[in-house]
Amino acid sequence: MLDLFTIFTKGGIVLWCFRNTSEFFAPSVNALIRNVLMQERGGNSSYSHDKLTLQYKLDNEFELIFVVAFQKILQLAYIDKFLSDIHLEFRDKYKNVLTAQGREFNNFDFGEEFQRLLKDAENWGKMQSAMPRQMRSFEESNKSKKTVASMIERKGGDSVPKKTVKIVEAEKVNVKEDDDEINGNTENEILNARKKLADKFTKKTPADKKKSPKSPVEKKNTKAKRVWELNGNSKDAVTLDRSKDRPEDIKSDFTDSDRMVGQLIGNIKDIEVEDESSEEESDDYEEDSNKNYAKPKVAAKKTSGMLSMFKGLVGSKSISNDDMQPALDKLRDHLIAKNVATDIAQKLCESVASKLEGKVLGTFDTIAATVKTTLNDSLVQILSPKRRIDILRDCLEAKRNRRPYVMTFCGVNGVGKSTNLAKICFWLIENNLNVLIAACDTFRAGAVEQLRTHCRHLNSLHPKEKHNGREMVQLYEKGYGKDAAGIAMEAIRFAKDSGIDVVLVDTAGRMQDNEPLMRALAKLIKINEPDLVLFVGEALVGNEAVDQLVKFNQALADYSSMDNPHVIDGIVLTKFDTIDDKVGAAISMTYITGQPIVFVGTGQTYTDLKALNARAVVHALMK
Ligand code: GDP
Repeated sequence: MLDLFTIFTKGGIVLWCFRNTSEFFAPSVNALIRNVLMQERGGNSSYSHDKLTLQYKLDNEFELIFVVAFQKILQLAYIDKFLSDIHLEFRDKYKNVLTAQGREFNNFDFGEEFQRLLKDAENWGKMQSAMPRQMRSFEESNKSKKTVASMIERKGGDSVPKKTVKIVEAEKVNVKEDDDEINGNTENEILNARKKLADKFTKKTPADKKKSPKSPVEKKNTKAKRVWELNGNSKDAVTLDRSKDRPEDIKSDFTDSDRMVGQLIGNIKDIEVEDESSEEESDDYEEDSNKNYAKPKVAAKKTSGMLSMFKGLVGSKSISNDDMQPALDKLRDHLIAKNVATDIAQKLCESVASKLEGKVLGTFDTIAATVKTTLNDSLVQILSPKRRIDILRDCLEAKRNRRPYVMTFCGVNGVGKSTNLAKICFWLIENNLNVLIAACDTFRAGAVEQLRTHCRHLNSLHPKEKHNGREMVQLYEKGYGKDAAGIAMEAIRFAKDSGIDVVLVDTAGRMQDNEPLMRALAKLIKINEPDLVLFVGEALVGNEAVDQLVKFNQALADYSSMDNPHVIDGIVLTKFDTIDDKVGAAISMTYITGQPIVFVGTGQTYTDLKALNARAVVHALMK
């Protein structure tokens, strides 16, 4: 009944494949990868292509994708169970191979298990359909049994739970499905941790709380999924203009004008350090006016988790490298666990070692302060931009020269390019600069409509009546399938002729290894000479974002055919609100490219735009 079952890595290496017919399935699987897997990530789902239904399951821990394909006309009730069974069996059988260094991918003998599990699942399916359909009471239903423990995936009801937990989706934030290690946590601990995480993401000021005392149930109902309609016409205008006919949405995301307008006047504010610790640390930091970063003044008063690993070094003799090694090893592992790239973690440990070696540190406080100051200094050095980027000043400078200031946004699909472009646009408008958005993503269906909706919302937040009749944001669009470089050029010319202050160029998302698309981006940048090329990357994917950035930079250099190519000038690090304390990507990205993180996206509203500061990063690392 099944036409195809294939197991492949996220990198595209096929590990195992079962084929029932001689048909060629590559187009369907490729369509699934392109249209579903590359755009969204999430558990277990299905997709139709041609005559096939493709159902897939992702394994985030081993970065595997399990895909089953069967004829669309079939209704196979057992597919979900079958996918899960295969997933668990394959993981169990090959976990050692999958975790081994330089994984060997040539010997996956899985045919026997596959046939056995298929037979079991088919029998299970038959039994299910033969069973009389009786309405279950609530107590009998799965809902009543849905505890945290039930969300822990385990194989065939093992008594020992597998260490895999799915993180719940936090309100307002797309926390992606991910696997997380739990070491003997009780259910309560897990629940508390989840609550804390969700609270953190949804944290509001007391004033905010007063304004919108929504119950969780109300909140859920008010947030409807956005749909970007195709073909900009009156139908689209009606469906997308939520400010008129869907008042419940006005308070959501982007149009809560009372709360938003006026919030981003002036330079972008730094990421805040968490409340409970800011009190503790507010006295411990002094501003370093040269570097614009804060550095610790005195010893940390509380023993933070990470620093306790240095406790053993307290004593009267001078510290040797050997004494420090165990603590340094732990420090390195700790940093790596926060997504800091291994070589950078090593460098940070070396700088701590060089500061501590030979010292006699009588109390733990002095050791803690030394480690903290050293880490902070090193991070300040890493995170300090090589060159100053002051967008507001440069925009005004360009305005004086009667030309628009041009920023180009690039990155892979789904990282938040358009959303963060819109936030940056809001910030510019708040600072009384008017903007033309050039819709140069002429590839992804809905991209132009998404920008059009943002323009409408932004103009409703800052109506022209309040800006001397000036429309604050306009969209330059030429539909789909056209040459993006040409559209950007026309848009810049239009902005110049119309006296518009800033042009924001949205480009199509592309994978860092896609040569034709990277060439096209290099061409767009070469022809249009933007003032700023911003790379948009997700903090969420950690070192994958570093890889993307390095390859984008390299491709822009390789394909521009110029002696002095215009590469990436700065980074927009998105979804920072979803990473808890795993801030390593920020450090790695700036360390490897030397380019500054200009903006940090911290949520899905226009005001969720921040600047990075070393203090927040150090604070997260110390936890
Ligand atoms: P694009 O394909 O790169 O243009 O990505 P989009 O702008 O369409 O964003 C993809 C998804 O990421 C959308 O659901 C956004 O709301 C979400 N997103 C963008 N930036 C952030 C952020 O800073 N935090 C969170 N939590 N979500 C974000």
